[in-house]
Amino acid sequence: MQGLRIQIRGIVQGVGFRPWIYRLAREEGIAGRVRNDTAGVTIDAFGAEPSIEAFLGRVRSDAPPSAAICDIETAPIAVEALDEFSIVESDAAGAPTVAIPPDLATCPACVAEIFDPRDRRYGYPFTNCTNCGPRFTIARDVPYDRSRTTMAVFEMCPRCRREYESPDDRRFHAQPNACPACGPSLVAMTPEGRPLDVADPVAEAAWYVARGLIVALKGIGGFHLACDATSESTVARLRARKRRQQKPFAVMVRDVSAAFEVAHLTTEELALLVSAARPIVLVRRRETAPLADAVAPRNPLVGLLLPYSPLHHLLLDAAKRPLVMTSGNLSEEPLAYRNAEALERLGGIADLFLAHDREIETPCDDSVGRVIAGRPVVLRRARGYVPRPLKTACHFRQPVLACGALLKNTFCLGTGDLLHPGPHIGDLENLDTYRAYEEAIDRLQRFLQIEPEIIAHDLHPHYLSTSYALARPETMKVAVQHHHAHVVSCMTEHGLTGPVLGLAYDGTGYGLDGTAWGGELLLANLRSFHRLATFRPVRLPGGDTAIRQPWRIALALLDDAFAGTPPRPVLPLFHAVSATDVTAVTTLLRSTFNVPSAHGVGRFFDAIGALVLERPLSSYEGQIALEWNLAADPVETTSYPFTLNHDAEPWHIDLRPMVRAIVADVGGGWSPATISARFHNTLIEATATLVRAAARRHSGLPVVLSGGCFQNARLTEGLLGALAPEFAVYRHEAVPPGDGGVAVGQAVIASAIVDGIQPDTTN
Ligand code: ZN
Ligand code: ZN
Ligand code: FE
Repeated sequence: MQGLRIQIRGIVQGVGFRPWIYRLAREEGIAGRVRNDTAGVTIDAFGAEPSIEAFLGRVRSDAPPSAAICDIETAPIAVEALDEFSIVESDAAGAPTVAIPPDLATCPACVAEIFDPRDRRYGYPFTNCTNCGPRFTIARDVPYDRSRTTMAVFEMCPRCRREYESPDDRRFHAQPNACPACGPSLVAMTPEGRPLDVADPVAEAAWYVARGLIVALKGIGGFHLACDATSESTVARLRARKRRQQKPFAVMVRDVSAAFEVAHLTTEELALLVSAARPIVLVRRRETAPLADAVAPRNPLVGLLLPYSPLHHLLLDAAKRPLVMTSGNLSEEPLAYRNAEALERLGGIADLFLAHDREIETPCDDSVGRVIAGRPVVLRRARGYVPRPLKTACHFRQPVLACGALLKNTFCLGTGDLLHPGPHIGDLENLDTYRAYEEAIDRLQRFLQIEPEIIAHDLHPHYLSTSYALARPETMKVAVQHHHAHVVSCMTEHGLTGPVLGLAYDGTGYGLDGTAWGGELLLANLRSFHRLATFRPVRLPGGDTAIRQPWRIALALLDDAFAGTPPRPVLPLFHAVSATDVTAVTTLLRSTFNVPSAHGVGRFFDAIGALVLERPLSSYEGQIALEWNLAADPVETTSYPFTLNHDAEPWHIDLRPMVRAIVADVGGGWSPATISARFHNTLIEATATLVRAAARRHSGLPVVLSGGCFQNARLTEGLLGALAPEFAVYRHEAVPPGDGGVAVGQAVIASAIVDGIQPDTTN
């Protein structure tokens, strides 16, 4: 006989872990006990040595899919003469337990029940079990149990309670456990909030959808607006009412076979689509896809997602068509998640409300992912991932709050050796979003019982996140350069402490010299960086106006490349712009007022995209850049000339030769697809040349890719192909490459600076 104490850390509470351990112990003939504690789960196991070994092996290898084990520690203990294995109640007086789990997509067993007419949960939209259901979004406090969730108001009926209390049951300690007799109920309402007297609100909603109407649907993390994705006029109406002109909508399909009808899917894309987090996955749309063009205008990709709540399964089954499933808000506003608020804000958009009386405590957007070079990359980290922590190689001696950047803001709390990125908040540009941001920070702090001592923020003096940081009562504030934070966010994912050659390519970020950086090669460690190289800057006539009107940047690039005499007349783009505007911008270019310089690689996508696609205006952030990226011919291999200027540090990549060659190609009648491919190839070649040159001075360093430009699969895959034979190249997976990932880097850098966890090695 042998006794072993096994301590497991990670997401192991609220995911059916203890019942699973219980069954495993019985199967392997192990006696002892399992309990939740402040660190995770502790098991005392007693049995013959081979049984203990087999048991431990299975604990390591077959954990339930929704659990995430960070580490397992074992220590021998004295043998106790026990006959049985039992689940011991948590010590109520103990310190609060570890993190609340993320929301989990409905499991196959629960889906089977809601479609089984003989089951007592047939058609019940709030069915869940220990393997699935809402978690983070219904939690009000820690430790995570029913009395501290929005399910507290529903008293379990005797049958539900029996399931909840029996360790053999799939619903043992499933905190949101419910059935039609005792749980939440669904209601269909008019936009005025009047409940409709209908037997089946789901069937009613399906009827509305079939008639081209718009349904506001209360989901897991907030309201969605749903409508028929196959109808041009319906989708156009949704766009008009939501005031969202062209930005793609996500589409929910009933199941995997419906997903294959809509898109080409690789094995990796399919795995991401069906994962318990159920993100929106960007995939290549089929030519034959039964989708309205208005879903994603001029975009060969489609954001696809599968049902992740019983309500989605029931609605998709009844509607018998793919549905647009977009967040319930007006453009730029935060997500609506309370019934009254939804009626007020979405009353002018939706024709019917499908709501219920289970409150959402914490709003959480859908996450977005994409497979790049065969690996899943989280582009927007929210529902299904948050508040799952990320383990870091460094240790936060003092808790840190990192406030993030401006667009696609996310904050992050760091404590011990864990990082807790908050949910995606959105663009911090209006008061409502700012309020949602403050609330989300307060809430996660409370859930994690963290009082931050260090506040990290962006170097930009005018970001709302910076103002927020500066107004916090804590005295220790650390300003972090944006691209340094990008690079370190990626280093952190891979346990790198530097030095590294970090490429940070994005639209914009405040540089040390006050200009907009965004095409940077940094020699970086966790504390500091040295700017080795950048791109020759582009001028932005009119500042932010130029970003919404990329023809202005195109004109500035041409002006630079042709030394003040851009060949405008031969370029069709400028036929689409009024002569007065062209003259005004030309005048602006000769001045120094309101013509900031920008180094962002994203600006070349905006400008060249506008030029070649003849698209003077952008209707949402990054639109033209995205279209230009997706236009590229996949097989074209040639590229354009560029120069790498070594005269002074930082070195400059000069793309003027490329701009001149592109003008020649436009004149020569080459297709946008070919020109876009050559443009991408040029960026890849220029970057690889730069990295090789830098590596001659700083040899043997890993290369790190970060920044929003690496959401671009063609750029990332091309660069991996060019660099991988010579360098260890690291890229994002769990942390978004874009500004949603910046807070992770900020947290680590601030802590490294304050705690001095690493000597400065870059000088
Ligand atoms: Zn389930
Ligand atoms: Zn019940
Ligand atoms: Fe950025």
